[in-house]
Amino acid sequence: MRINTDIKLDYDDVLIRPKRSEAPSRSTIILERECRFLNSGGSWKGLPIIASNMDTIGTFAMAKAIGPELITCIHKYYSIEKLIEFFGDDDHCKSTFFTIGIKDNEYDKLRELRKKTNVRHLCIDVANGYTKFFVDHVKRIRDCYPDMTIMAGNVVTPEMVQELLIAGAADIIKIGIGPGSVCTTRIMTGVGYPQLSAIIECADAAHGLKGYVCADGGCRTPGDVVKAFAAGADFVMLGGMLAGHDECVGDWVVENGQRVAMNFYGMSSEKAMNKYTGGMKDYRASEGKEASIPYKGEVSNTVLQISGGIRSACAYVGATSLKDLSKCTTFICCRRPSD
Ligand code: 5GP
Repeated sequence: MRINTDIKLDYDDVLIRPKRSEAPSRSTIILERECRFLNSGGSWKGLPIIASNMDTIGTFAMAKAIGPELITCIHKYYSIEKLIEFFGDDDHCKSTFFTIGIKDNEYDKLRELRKKTNVRHLCIDVANGYTKFFVDHVKRIRDCYPDMTIMAGNVVTPEMVQELLIAGAADIIKIGIGPGSVCTTRIMTGVGYPQLSAIIECADAAHGLKGYVCADGGCRTPGDVVKAFAAGADFVMLGGMLAGHDECVGDWVVENGQRVAMNFYGMSSEKAMNKYTGGMKDYRASEGKEASIPYKGEVSNTVLQISGGIRSACAYVGATSLKDLSKCTTFICCRRPSD
């Protein structure tokens, strides 16, 4: 056994220090980012926020509402017919990722989808991105589809970011083990990494190789999204913050004909397992839970709140663009280890 006593930080442990600057006007701050991917040769431009590939969030309606400026990772449970219809429209392919895991039938779906559509972006998502099998799987898919933008994860440490960028030839590495709002991995397994430190350490490793990172999970407020970008995230993936909107698909609590709340659940929760894999396997523990999320109306309102928060943060630290936010940021630790 070894113990690392360095302090690792979460979003709640820091604030961003305001700075004297020729404060740029909020309206002129550039939120759009342009990314050029070394391994696939592709590129993408927009506001780098991603709707998570959870079945309640990564929906066609979400992609239509927030794209093409923002990204949606379409979940893997749609039928192949529905996927072909959606991705058959080239406009939908611009900012929409398809998602697979490591199962053969998911790979078959991807093959079929590639044959029939122009799908350009892929998210290869597993709970534990630390296996050699996963790295080989990512590389196999890269070899089959050299021009696809590939996002792969999840991991939380630099050596695995490097492995997935070099050996796996992915373009974007997804960072986060345990921070999600409906995730119970830390409780059930004791495994995880404070998300802010994971982003800082992984972004440094990825940027050294001209790769990108996506911070996945743990953002509960626009301020958390700002902190993720300020820590070096190139993309930020959201689940819970985008739950409860009209564009979500889920079980709604309706009172007097009005939606009041939505049932939101983790993709490793017992509810998701029952829905998609015929129940919990007896060698697995559930690593997800359910939560009731108040109804929030159209997602565009929430997107405005988030982009407003980012603009304002840029003005506070003197960054003229989202790209520069990290360079202009000084975090202040506001919790001591003993707190
Ligand atoms: P949130 O934005 O809600 O805090 O986090 C969303 C992320 O949580 C997802 O993108 C995914 O990576 C992760 N997640 C979703 N469902 C589960 C689950 O059941 N268990 C775990 N460990 N993580 C989950």
